[in-house]
Amino acid sequence: MIELTDSVAKTMKEFEKLPGVGKKSAERIVYHLLKTTPDEAFALADAIRSMKENVRYCKHCFNLSEEEVCDICRDERRDRSILCVVEQPRDLIALEQTGCYRGLYHVLLGRVSPLDGVGSDQLTIDALVKRVKTGDFKELVMATNPTVEGDGTALAITNRLDGAAIKITRLARGVTTGSSLEFANKEMLSDAISGRQQF
Ligand SMILES: [Zn+2]
Repeated sequence: MIELTDSVAKTMKEFEKLPGVGKKSAERIVYHLLKTTPDEAFALADAIRSMKENVRYCKHCFNLSEEEVCDICRDERRDRSILCVVEQPRDLIALEQTGCYRGLYHVLLGRVSPLDGVGSDQLTIDALVKRVKTGDFKELVMATNPTVEGDGTALAITNRLDGAAIKITRLARGVTTGSSLEFANKEMLSDAISGRQQF
């Protein structure tokens, strides 16, 4: 049997580790890369390197940023009295795209999921509680995904904030239960933000 060269086999193995990429797809990608010019292939390698070297989490909200503080937290025009809690940076992007929300965010970087061994101590909940207790926020909008785990996460946060002088709201259920914000369309999300209700 003819074997792949070591570097081809190694590259395939790396692609196979990516989510949603099986053996077949990894093969297809690698054979494609072998055919491209060195410049095209290095552009991919360079983009990954540059992203890993430059991107970090905002020290306030844990959004992705290339600076210590992200663009949203630095934007003086944002409403600093309202804080929206999302699971992932991609949820923040989905909400931003509606253009309906002008407050600040807090990104949890996951959701509480006992089955996957993710407890509330592994997320950015401690930082959120500290932010709420030391800040001047008047409203906290729970925009966790409408799933069992998203709801559980919102509940865990609400419990931690028991006694804090802040109004807690949640997105209206225009977003179908079991789906995720990322895939909700713009109109649905806009309705969900403007129709938010007491938690
Ligand atoms: Zn930020």
